[in-house]
Formats: sequence, structure tokens, C-alpha cells
Amino acid sequence: MPRKLLHESIQGHRITAIDRRAKYLLIRMQDGSVLVFHLGMTGKLGMFPMAAPKAPHDHLRLLLDNEMELRFNDVRRFGSITVWPADHAIIQEEEFNSSKGIEPFGPEFTAASLTRLARRRSMPVKTFLMNSRLIAGIGNIYANETLFAASIHPQTRVNLLSEKQWQKIIDCCLRILTLAIAAGGSTISDFLGASGNPGYFQLQLAVYGKKDEPCPGCGAKINKETLGGRATYYCSNCQSI
Ligand SMILES: [Zn+2]
Repeated sequence: MPRKLLHESIQGHRITAIDRRAKYLLIRMQDGSVLVFHLGMTGKLGMFPMAAPKAPHDHLRLLLDNEMELRFNDVRRFGSITVWPADHAIIQEEEFNSSKGIEPFGPEFTAASLTRLARRRSMPVKTFLMNSRLIAGIGNIYANETLFAASIHPQTRVNLLSEKQWQKIIDCCLRILTLAIAAGGSTISDFLGASGNPGYFQLQLAVYGKKDEPCPGCGAKINKETLGGRATYYCSNCQSI
């Protein structure tokens, strides 16, 4: 943890904005410095009264001027805390942005730009959607659900997809991400949303985690295979290559 930078750039400063880029949370300070969190697999940020008992694995506690503490807890420690000090923050953020893919809710997430990005690539569409250097922030659950909703087989080579199919993928992806955000995220084992409440999106999942269960579209059994090292669920009847 960048303890010295935390003292110099964050302690005593005023928070002016909170943003997200890819899987990172950016807390912006008035002088331009930025506190950057990655939640990893099990990281959680929560607001607690100062007197609330400390939990094991609380790696950072920031006392705010409303007597509340912002606490970062991470059991498995895959998360990270970084500070971009004010004098380097603009350059560090530019470098950071250039290594991240298109944001699903940003203006570049269009059928035209995805077609262009896919033209010289022959990877399976699911692997493409999950490559964070190409597209930021579509995790495994949402890639599975998006392709089912768009009736596209996860193994389909990206250079074979038409602009119309990309548009369908975009529409389904945005609808599913919007629903997931409204439901507070997806709960897998020990993940909790920022408010400490579990998300309930998994109750609405169509294919993810449903091997051998009936497809909600046609009743055929849902298949599971490993693609790009990740569990991949699909209906071979409803999703064509
Ligand atoms: Zn089906």
C-alpha cells in the first residue's frame, strides 16, 4: 500500500468526484490527485460509523469529516489501492486509459467500431467480449448472458459477425448490464455489493451456471464448456455460429 502517498496526497484533502473506469474506482481529490481502487475478487468498500467494530481484512480505513469511515476490506487480497499524486495524475490517467478497452456505456461502443476492431481477429466472440484491452468490464456472467440473449454461439469467430449482429450484441449487453446494475451486481459466494447487501441478479440469469437445465428459449439442455479458460454456458439450439 502506498502509505506515504496516502498521507501526502489523500489525507486532509477534499473528495470532489467518484468515477469508474474498467474495473477501477477513481476517487478524485480537489488538488487533482486520485485514489484508485481495484476490488479484485472479494474487495469491498463500505461506509461505517467510526465506532463500528473493525473486521479482519480491513486493509484501509479513511476517516471522513462526517465521522464516517470508508473501509476497504479484501479477504483474498486480489484487490489493489493506488495513489496518483496531483503532479503526475493526468499523465498516469492517460497511460491507464490507453491500456483499457472500450467502455460499454461510452460513445465508442457501437456496431461500427466493434466491426472495425474485429475485422482482423478470428478469436471466439466470447473471448473478444471478455478481453479487457478491447472492451472494458464485461465479466464472464454477462458475456454468457449477452450471447444467449443475442442468439449468437460463444465460439463464433468475430471476423464473421455482421454489423447487424454486433448491434444485437450491443443492445443485449447494455440491457443486461443495466438490469444487473439496478439489481446491485451479481452474487457469487462471498461477493457483496458496496452497501453490504448481496445482489440478486443471479435469480434472473438465463444460462450462466445452468448446465443441463432446460433452456428458457426452447427447453433443450444447456451446455457447458470451457472457452478461453472460462466456464461457458449456451444453448446449441438457440445460439448459432
Ligand atoms: Zn434453446
